[in-house]
Amino acid sequence: MIQMLVDWMTLMNRQFEGDRQSCAEFSDSFAGYFPQNFLAETYYVVVPKVPMPAYQFLEEAGFTDLYEQNPAGLTLGNTYYVLPTAKNNLRLHIHELVHAAQWKLLGVDSFLHRYRYELERYGYDNMPLEGMAYAVDEHYALGRRPFDVLEFVTRELEGNPGDSSGR
Ligand SMILES: [Zn+2]
Repeated sequence: MIQMLVDWMTLMNRQFEGDRQSCAEFSDSFAGYFPQNFLAETYYVVVPKVPMPAYQFLEEAGFTDLYEQNPAGLTLGNTYYVLPTAKNNLRLHIHELVHAAQWKLLGVDSFLHRYRYELERYGYDNMPLEGMAYAVDEHYALGRRPFDVLEFVTRELEGNPGDSSGR
């Protein structure tokens, strides 16, 4: 069932390839948080509506909770989608960049399995993958000293092994 989502996101990213903008433009804003090459290889697309798979797909794959979040941003691999109202919201950008780092470090399949497992086990508000992203965006919003997000995410992922056994 996860494969359906993989196919869908591949299609979405391909469809919007011509509209995407490189996150290299944030190299000053997010200096100290992400290396230049990571930002240069990550993209965002401004869309009137955040792409969401058909409810039936999400239900079959076990992601129905996501539907209720009605997010202003959504990350699919190395590309994230933001609403025009959130386009200049750096806090949202850094939040989605944390998810892009998770996708990169885990790989597509592991990210999706882990996200589903955590969603089911902890719920959206308490799941570690979201917790990391909220921790970084809050840190940034408070104007605290930057830290290496890729290192932080790597450490968090190791400290919190996902369980995809579906127990
Ligand atoms: Zn998030």
